[in-house]
Amino acid sequence: MAYAISDECISCGACAAECPVNAISEGDGKYEINADLCTECGSCASVCPVGAPAQA
Ligand code: SF4
Ligand code: SF4
Repeated sequence: MAYAISDECISCGACAAECPVNAISEGDGKYEINADLCTECGSCASVCPVGAPAQA
């Protein structure tokens, strides 16, 4: 299962900078993960200040 970003996201952008496959982009009010690109590395979850990315 790919990671997904919850509504807790505060759009800080930290996760997008860390994603090795550029699967994260700014969406409408929060950041979003392209599930087709995500390799489940967990980097986004480890840098997020509010714990928004989680395995869906
Ligand atoms: Fe990118 Fe890894 Fe997060 Fe997937 S788990 S969105 S590959 S940083
Ligand atoms: Fe949102 Fe967390 Fe990513 Fe920041 S690091 S943009 S709060 S999901």
